[in-house]
Amino acid sequence: MKHIVSLIMMTVVLCGTMTAQQLGQRSRLERHVYTLAADSLNGRKAGSLDAEKARQYIEHEWHAMGLKPMWDGSYRMGFTLGELSGFCNLVACIEGSDPVLKDEYIVIGGHYDHLGVKNGKVYNGADDNASGTACVTEVARQLLARQKELKRSVIVCAFDAEEIGLIGSSFLVSTLKDKGIIGRVKVMMSVDMVGWLREGKALTLEGTGTLADGAGLTDPKSLGINIPIRTKRFENSLFTATDTEPFAKEGVATLAVTTGIKSPYHKPEDDANLIDYEGLDRVTDYLAAFTARLASAEAPIASGHVADKHRKKARLFEFGLQLGFNSSWLNYPNAAFYGKSLSGLQGGIAMQLNMGNTFSLHADLLYSIFRTPLADIEQPFASVLRMRQEAVLLPLTLQLNLSDVSNRLFLNAGGYAAFLTAHDIYRPNSDSPFTMSTRLLYPAELGITWGLGFRIGYHFECRIQSLYSLMPLYITGQSAEPEIKTFPRRSTFSLAYYF
Ligand SMILES: [Zn+2]
Repeated sequence: MKHIVSLIMMTVVLCGTMTAQQLGQRSRLERHVYTLAADSLNGRKAGSLDAEKARQYIEHEWHAMGLKPMWDGSYRMGFTLGELSGFCNLVACIEGSDPVLKDEYIVIGGHYDHLGVKNGKVYNGADDNASGTACVTEVARQLLARQKELKRSVIVCAFDAEEIGLIGSSFLVSTLKDKGIIGRVKVMMSVDMVGWLREGKALTLEGTGTLADGAGLTDPKSLGINIPIRTKRFENSLFTATDTEPFAKEGVATLAVTTGIKSPYHKPEDDANLIDYEGLDRVTDYLAAFTARLASAEAPIASGHVADKHRKKARLFEFGLQLGFNSSWLNYPNAAFYGKSLSGLQGGIAMQLNMGNTFSLHADLLYSIFRTPLADIEQPFASVLRMRQEAVLLPLTLQLNLSDVSNRLFLNAGGYAAFLTAHDIYRPNSDSPFTMSTRLLYPAELGITWGLGFRIGYHFECRIQSLYSLMPLYITGQSAEPEIKTFPRRSTFSLAYYF
């Protein structure tokens, strides 16, 4: 059965290639997308036999145009994922002509895997990312035709396992590191979802800020290509990632190239008949001209800047604004109960000194309103009294950061001081008198604090902190009963934005 399937596949492929010689780029793009996004490829899920069919098609195309493998006589670069095997990038190289610069590389790649079949529906992934795979293939063909003018070498990739976590591109990066090449990769481009130019209105290039002259280098007019482009200095979307990420984290200048998510993104309707082939043809011409320019540029092409979300090292000093809730209650150490809690508000600034990526010194300067219930010891069964305090709150903690810089969890512990600016007791919704008073030892409260939180996309933080006062608060009734010793307890929940 398998033999028959591959025989049919090969026939389709061969007939396709024979006619393709006489056809133009646009027809070839159309054929690539229709073949890769056909129902018979079942959505090209990473690790499946359908992904293998996609690989055979791409390999055949690359081989037929004379593209040379990067390593060891084969485009294939297999890898495993834990217990799972059957994953494979395809990697080719167009060698540069300059005796020195040919050891520098421009990488252009697109992932060919998609989501497979879910609930009986085939996710064909025509835009995501048969379009990018087709485009990269035709860019390679154009670059081969003008190989003599390329000074640097161009690495051409079809990545596997992007959809399950950028695994293929991460594997290529670790290989390039092992071979000591990563430092010589000058620019990496991920071509991901480029089939909807008409609806997307422009080709978006995210990451021009990583290039020394992003605006000049990417200008389509100076490349003689008529295409609307939209540039973004840095890739900073919180919820999307593409194969640029593992490269960017190694400090490589990267561009995410896309016509946007106008297509039925990650839906079974992402089909080949919806692709704008005229647009895909223009995107291909543009990227071929742009890649050739990068491969031949004299001046250093990378700016050395990276997107915040791709930072490998935290900034030394960070400053942010925060807003949050708190909750306060009293601990009665000589009684077997805890007081109830009430909520309050707080806001202020956050400051952080990062000592490498693992440890940080974190300080906040907050204005807090605390509301704390008090038991009325004269009338224990009457309605509860409340204590209202306003304070300048200063927590200072040592923070342990786990995981990476832009998305990380952290734990912290330290001390705090709260300087009270207002302190009073009242009975809510009632005028009936009460005879309670409180006695504070000092106008400041000192205590210990610990907490945890997480950072998402470098700038956004969510933090929960417990505050445990070491300064007693004495509650007294009118009849000079013995004072009751209590300790305020507080917890805070805050959201912060770091600039
Ligand atoms: Zn994609």
